Amino acid sequence: MALNFKLQLAENSASNIFRRGTLSFTKKNHVIQTPACMTYTLRGAVPHLLADNLKLLPIELVQVSLEHFLEQKDPSSFKYPHGLHKYLNLENNLLFCDIRDPLKLSPVSFNTDKYLSVQTHGGVRQVTPDLWAEAMNIYRPDLIATMSDTVTDMDAKTKRIKKSVDRSLRWLDENLVKSKELDIPVFAPVMGHTDKEERIRSATSTAERDVQGFIVNVLGFEKETVAAQVKASTDNLPSNKPRLAYGLSSPEGILEGISNGIDLFDGSYAYKVTEKGRAITFKFGTELKSEIHTQDQPKTLNLWSTDLAHAFEPLDTTCGCDACTRPHTKAYIHHLLNAHEMLGPILLMSHNVYQLDKFMQSIRTSIDQGSFEQDMKTFMHHYSHLKESDGMQNHEDEVDTDSLGVHLKKKRTLKL
Ligand SMILES: [Zn+2]
Repeated sequence: MALNFKLQLAENSASNIFRRGTLSFTKKNHVIQTPACMTYTLRGAVPHLLADNLKLLPIELVQVSLEHFLEQKDPSSFKYPHGLHKYLNLENNLLFCDIRDPLKLSPVSFNTDKYLSVQTHGGVRQVTPDLWAEAMNIYRPDLIATMSDTVTDMDAKTKRIKKSVDRSLRWLDENLVKSKELDIPVFAPVMGHTDKEERIRSATSTAERDVQGFIVNVLGFEKETVAAQVKASTDNLPSNKPRLAYGLSSPEGILEGISNGIDLFDGSYAYKVTEKGRAITFKFGTELKSEIHTQDQPKTLNLWSTDLAHAFEPLDTTCGCDACTRPHTKAYIHHLLNAHEMLGPILLMSHNVYQLDKFMQSIRTSIDQGSFEQDMKTFMHHYSHLKESDGMQNHEDEVDTDSLGVHLKKKRTLKL
């Protein structure tokens, strides 16, 4: 099999509930330690970064969304004969291809038994099992997600949820024929939305199929309900196969996911904070030097802040990223953002991708040492978990999630 997943069994059974594993892509001879984050892309590119930047970063498994490539009826990527790795100049990376952007919740249009609707720059397109098969045949990624009839309406009725479970299973059976022929491992979506019984039915039925992993979706769910919904799915999945989650990309979401049996996450958080002009400063486990009375600390640094105009030190002296080692100062990055220079987001994105990976490393070490539960408590106590909105002061939110990250017209506010 092209994909092997091994869970390490912790010596003390108490920490056994937190999954620590290795995911081996045998064809590429590449092993990924889990829990881990994938790297988020927009139209097949890691936002802001070029090949030279990527080389300096710990990027392994890259997530690509098919809907970013379907803006025309005859997508140019379908005509390229050497596969998606080469097309995207990501030949040294592992590619995971799903259909929709993991950041997107917005329903584009309805799905039917014959197709699911996706959103592209060219408008709404329909992905049929045949189109999906054609894309996978040409792209040849290392790992693929099968089609899912995702429900986005939080008030959806049981009838609609049941239909989405059945439809996704039918598409899965159809997609599996092609993936077997191509010998590409498959992650199957487990559905059920807000209905616990349906989550159980979907997980159980999907687990009966010959798939190599699962995708649990809680995108858009209230924070309070996430744990129970994830658990309803993961409790009914075989423990020896990996689970990817959507909707748990924040640091708190990642910790919640790990507490409920998730192994892989989408790495969109690094992109989201970069778009807000912020740099990750949070630490975890032994890296987090927390004192008992410290709480509500910010998790990121707002580089738009005029307080940093004379801060002539790097973002993080312990960080090994290109932005911090060269080093570029906070004051300089602040200046670049104000001048709307491309280098600003390049430096921030490099730092944030590096730090998100570091966070996952610290989590793995913490699970290995049997201290995850305590470390998570310390983390939750130490940091503020409010939406970090002060970064938006005088700046419009620059992520337009409805148009694939194309920047809205920026409102310039120069404070002199
Ligand atoms: Zn850095």
